[in-house]
Amino acid sequence: MAKNVIFDSSVATLKKTIPLMMKYNVPVNPVNYALWYTYASNEVPTLNKELDSAIKLYNTCPQFRADQLYDKHVSTEKEVQSKGLQKSIESMVSKLSESIGSSKKNAKEFENAMDVCHDELSGMDSHNVSKDNVACLVSELVAKSQIMRDSAKNFGDSLTKAQREIKSLRAKLADSQQAALYDALTGLLNRRAFDQEMESLLALPDMNMCLIIADIDHFKKFNDTHGHLLGDQVLKIVAKRLAAASADGAMAFRFGGEEFIILVPKGSLQQAHSLAELIRLSIERLKIKDKKTGEVVANITCSFGVAELNKKMDATALVNLADERLYSAKQQGRNRVHSQ
Ligand code: GH3
Ligand code: MG
Ligand code: MG
Repeated sequence: MAKNVIFDSSVATLKKTIPLMMKYNVPVNPVNYALWYTYASNEVPTLNKELDSAIKLYNTCPQFRADQLYDKHVSTEKEVQSKGLQKSIESMVSKLSESIGSSKKNAKEFENAMDVCHDELSGMDSHNVSKDNVACLVSELVAKSQIMRDSAKNFGDSLTKAQREIKSLRAKLADSQQAALYDALTGLLNRRAFDQEMESLLALPDMNMCLIIADIDHFKKFNDTHGHLLGDQVLKIVAKRLAAASADGAMAFRFGGEEFIILVPKGSLQQAHSLAELIRLSIERLKIKDKKTGEVVANITCSFGVAELNKKMDATALVNLADERLYSAKQQGRNRVHSQ
């Protein structure tokens, strides 16, 4: 009974999944299947929210974003991924075994037909061999051998298809291991993810967006004074603040070292400036305390450069402009936001 309920609900979810994938022109592959299935199931509300944002932005969910969402929400422990692959392999094996089954059936029928013909031919002697008899036997053999030939061909096609699928599954597995889009220390999206995101956003018509670049102030000194390990903890905390502030389609990335980027798609320069200011304040409030004494040993601050995309800019130009403003924020005393 319980099994039936689970089966029914998964069939219902699957029925919702396929039309959704078709509606948004999503390529059919194991990652997308798993992702959209999870979306249709409503089991992970944050996934649905983020996928909705992607749909709003792109009118679909581009593959790189699907991969990110899948990594983040569906295959946290690589479990679903292996399940997805497992499912593909299972379906491939079951198709193959169907083909083998029907080939075997056809071969058996062919063998029987051969036996019948053989018996009939052996039973004939030179007196009762008629042209019609032989013609009838031959045409039956031709028909059966045609079925046999088709079945062998189908089986051969299935094998070729399976071979192709295995190759693509292998490549996908290797890709997913290699193309990690997340920074291991902070859990934020990394530079590679940033490059992909920029490429996709810049390909959209009439895209308006802003970019905030944030850099921790005097971080070298912090490391030198308190040690690299505590420095790592600071990076993690700052990353959390950035991620928490990055709602409404804004995305935070670890750009490298102690530098971070927040992309604010569809936002004005003023909005991005205000967002940077909020983040600046939330980081300024951080107090690094000595675990034993509880005494505040350091304050963390960040400087920010904010820039708005214009039509003549590519990704590098936008980053460079934000970087120039960051530099001026550093020059003028740090712990400030510059957007001009
Ligand atoms: P400024 O205010 O001008 O930005 O000064 P700064 O000291 O922050 O800048 P600088 O570029 O001189 O030094 C950056 C430091 O960031 C040096 C490097 O050790 C530290 N850093 C980069 N990546 C990591 C990391 O993953 N962990 C730790 N703990 N430190 C890092
Ligand atoms: Mg720096
Ligand atoms: Mg710095």
